[in-house]
Amino acid sequence: MGNTIFSKIINKEIPAEIVYESKNVLAFRDINPQAPTHILIIPKIEIPTVKELNGKDHAPLLGEMIDAANIIARNENISESGFRLVFNCGDHGGQEVYHLHMHLLGGRQMKWPPG
Ligand code: 5GP
Repeated sequence: MGNTIFSKIINKEIPAEIVYESKNVLAFRDINPQAPTHILIIPKIEIPTVKELNGKDHAPLLGEMIDAANIIARNENISESGFRLVFNCGDHGGQEVYHLHMHLLGGRQMKWPPG
């Protein structure tokens, strides 16, 4: 079941620094952080990309991921200063791991546009 590195993290087959876990969602620190706080928030079910999402079926799951982001941002003390949430999708989006994930980045001033 599952064929990405994130499935192995969900199944606790490889270690990760988990900062939040609920029935449907897991969040852990990115192994190659791009900001003082860089956390990946993922669904426990296998969804490869944003393209497989639709509002009818996935609104509750996406809501849970946003709730997780807000809880973690408060825990990391970056809620007041602000943060960035990012979904990379596909090749041009810069997606490397094909298990849906939302990046939570904070703890420094972000630039725009992104590279
Ligand atoms: P993407 O480029 O697909 O949007 O982001 C994938 C992210 O997963 C990257 O930021 C990368 O550093 C992170 N990553 C890849 N492999 C691992 C791993 O084994 N453990 C953790 N914690 N993060 C990983």
